[in-house]
Amino acid sequence: MSDERARRLVIVGGGPSGLAAAWKASVEADRAGASLEIVVLEANGEVGGKARTEQADGLLIETGPQGFLDDQPVVREMIDACGLKDEVLAPEPAANRRYIYRGGRLRELRRSPLAFARSGLLGPLGLARLAMEPLVRSRHDGDAEGSAGEDESLYDFAARRMGRQAAARLISPVVLGIFAGDARKLSAAAAFPRMVAMERGHGSLFKAMRAGRKRGAPPPGHRTLRRGIQALPRAVAALPGIEVRCNQRVTAVERRGKNFTVVSSTGDVAADAVVVAADLPAAADLVEGVSAAAATELRRIESPPMAVVHTALDAAAAAHIEPAYGFLVARGEGIRMLGCQYETATFRGRGPDYTFLARSLFGGSVDPEAADLGDAQLVDLTLSELRRTAGIDAEPTYASVARWPHAIPQYAPGHPQRVARIEAALNPIAGFHLAGNALHGVGLSRAIAVGADRGENAARGLLGASAKSAGSRR
Ligand SMILES: Cc1cc2nc3c(=O)[nH]c(=O)nc-3n(C[C@H](O)[C@H](O)[C@H](O)COP(=O)(O)OP(=O)(O)OC[C@H]3O[C@@H](n4cnc5c(N)ncnc54)[C@H](O)[C@@H]3O)c2cc1C
Repeated sequence: MSDERARRLVIVGGGPSGLAAAWKASVEADRAGASLEIVVLEANGEVGGKARTEQADGLLIETGPQGFLDDQPVVREMIDACGLKDEVLAPEPAANRRYIYRGGRLRELRRSPLAFARSGLLGPLGLARLAMEPLVRSRHDGDAEGSAGEDESLYDFAARRMGRQAAARLISPVVLGIFAGDARKLSAAAAFPRMVAMERGHGSLFKAMRAGRKRGAPPPGHRTLRRGIQALPRAVAALPGIEVRCNQRVTAVERRGKNFTVVSSTGDVAADAVVVAADLPAAADLVEGVSAAAATELRRIESPPMAVVHTALDAAAAAHIEPAYGFLVARGEGIRMLGCQYETATFRGRGPDYTFLARSLFGGSVDPEAADLGDAQLVDLTLSELRRTAGIDAEPTYASVARWPHAIPQYAPGHPQRVARIEAALNPIAGFHLAGNALHGVGLSRAIAVGADRGENAARGLLGASAKSAGSRR
């Protein structure tokens, strides 16, 4: 290979994380005034990964993420670079209303302590225990490492701080909405790092929230894009300096001295550096070519299937539905739906005026079999469970089912240690980078931030600006 030719960075996976890597690598090349060939290989016929937006009957259907947390400056930067700044949408005021279905009815999650107490979500003992949270000794008191260094499950963390009722009736349903997962099988430190940091920093969650309010630091907002989330990966793919090749399934990444061969369904591509941004379990297979140890660890991260059912009602049927963000369903209620988001009430422009579009989620680690039900069965189940939970009882004008065989990675207790082992195996391999949402946060904003970080490092490594960063650079 001649030193004169442009270096080539190959990114495997054209989802949000892979495209963030491509965008940031191109920014870095521009900054350095250097030439860098950036090639994205995507298995599907179009970019976006799970960020998939469809249009039908005047409705905007988000089959994967329907929004993102505005907690990563780099996401804003990427949106601006794509000219989508004016497309960012905040939720409607009605979306402040959120419910949990428990004890046979929907109960509103209220902010004021009195209203919360009256919601019936917790009984008197549960409320009394929750009120004691600021008095519960922090796990980190007088123990810089020791037992505090050990990971615990999200359920154990919540039960220790807030009591078992709050853990079961509040935290467990919220976890369904983010991970479609079981709070008892998720790592507190990996799944809710902010909550663990609140205990570490302030000794109590309530004290940390109070300190945040005093500082005038509002929690990060929920956002979407007017034309749907897929608009972002599509816009990145259209940026100059990024070559996207769709319908190219990568089957292996092989090391060739200091370089790599990326083996795809349509031929081999030589690369000076590689970012693997494929989702699990494909990512594990691709990592195998450079580190069997890292691949084995990645294969231990489960990503169970999910189904997303959209149903729409016309204006007359929707008239009696109170606008809200939607609801989550506590387990043990005999309802298989994990939760339902009222799309048209949450973001403007998701459908024609006065229609109602509901997005109901099934499957995940708590009920993977539900994701395998047939389309008609899932739609029937959705309708009967919307009737039982929210009293929504009408024939839909539209219904569709989307399926994700490997939906959301589950960060089991011990995940931080697993991440450390994976990174210890991969970091010494110059030019090889792992992006995606398998390690550092399952949400869209984290996947983009990690992708951008890996793209930047890959470009710097190739252009000689700096060596690959050690560790995760979160
Ligand atoms: C039902 C559902 C709802 C969600 N809702 C939200 C939400 O509301 N908010 C939020 O923040 N997050 C949400 N998420 C999570 C969000 O979708 C992810 O954070 C995000 O998609 C991760 O991006 P990624 O690029 O890492 O992976 P993906 O989006 O999975 O993209 C991976 C890409 O790699 C490609 N690929 C895989 N294997 C190969 C191969 N061998 N060769 C080439 N290409 C390959 C895939 O085709 C895909 O395009 C949701 C996820 C699901 C499943």
